[in-house]
Amino acid sequence: MRIGVLGGGQLGRMLALAGMPHGHEFVFLEPGGEAVRGIGRLVQASATDRAALERLASQVDVVTYEFENVPVEAARALAARVPVHPTPEALAVSQDRVVEKEFLRDAGIPTPRFAAVDSRADFDAALAALGLPAVLKTRRLGYDGKGQHVLQSEADAASAWAVRRGTALVLEAFVPFVRELSIIAVRGRDGAEAFYPLVENRHRDGILRTSRAPAPDVTPALQATAERHARRVLDRLGYVGVLAIELFQVGDELVANEMAPRVHNSGHWTIDGAETSQFENHVRAITGAPLGPTAARGAVGMVNLIGDVPDPAAILAIPGARLHLYGKSSKPGRKVGHVTIVGPTHDAVAPAVASVERLLAA
Ligand code: AMP
Repeated sequence: MRIGVLGGGQLGRMLALAGMPHGHEFVFLEPGGEAVRGIGRLVQASATDRAALERLASQVDVVTYEFENVPVEAARALAARVPVHPTPEALAVSQDRVVEKEFLRDAGIPTPRFAAVDSRADFDAALAALGLPAVLKTRRLGYDGKGQHVLQSEADAASAWAVRRGTALVLEAFVPFVRELSIIAVRGRDGAEAFYPLVENRHRDGILRTSRAPAPDVTPALQATAERHARRVLDRLGYVGVLAIELFQVGDELVANEMAPRVHNSGHWTIDGAETSQFENHVRAITGAPLGPTAARGAVGMVNLIGDVPDPAAILAIPGARLHLYGKSSKPGRKVGHVTIVGPTHDAVAPAVASVERLLAA
């Protein structure tokens, strides 16, 4: 099939690398396109360009996205011409943190306590209701911790307000989590569903740094809870494709932070470490093929390469390290690649993970 992708970053690149062996062709709509250079075709334009959307629609059998901030109108306009998966409704929900939390709450999935903030009066009322510490976030266009302020004190609240006033905001109660987890789920066109084992994620400065999969010390009950939450989202949206939900673990409870209607960084371990990667399963789902098995092939460590592109030979000298570079140039805070290590246990994998981290810190 010919698959159109809105966005052309590393997620698009890895979708194509997974789908091409099955005979699929890819066309990306992306104003830049560094990460997909030489992989499929590129319509070099933004998703607000009507003529470019038309050109994309005329070249493909199905459209998906690898970036959730594409305009919902663009996805809806395309859906009038070709099947678009996941449904544009999933984009609309995930683009606004308040709509997203209301959706999750209505689906019976716990979220942090939250309040929409559009004015100073709203902010004062939200602070009084939720207390401190709290997290002030922009409702839209935040990712990798951008547009976020952790408020520990009244002074933090005042300075965050000075920066963010005039923007649609949400205040969330700070969740005292023991760790961050995510669930990657997939639903096929026929409604078949599959779930990957929970992943444990460590962030620094709001950016994912490392993941371990399957997350250690996950009881069957915790995995079942995560799958129940994900299934509710998939079913409510009539979803087709891969979905990720970021979760805070608080005791034996899972509190949803946010959802991504696409393949997700915390699922990159599946390329080397699962029976079917999240990218392959997304392509299988949107093309109507049967889903592949989601079991892990061992214990997997994933380290993001952020900012500088390292010397590939130095990474490849680490036994067991599998290197994925995204074809992007170095830039502070930018995800330029990742490294995966698969072994029999997390203890066995830990030394190689530590070697990668030491190399990045050097
Ligand atoms: P987000 O952009 O919403 O995914 O947030 C980025 C990171 O900030 C999360 O992965 C958490 O580490 C932290 N964070 C966000 N919201 C909260 C919250 N309500 N309570 C505690 N930590 C949070």
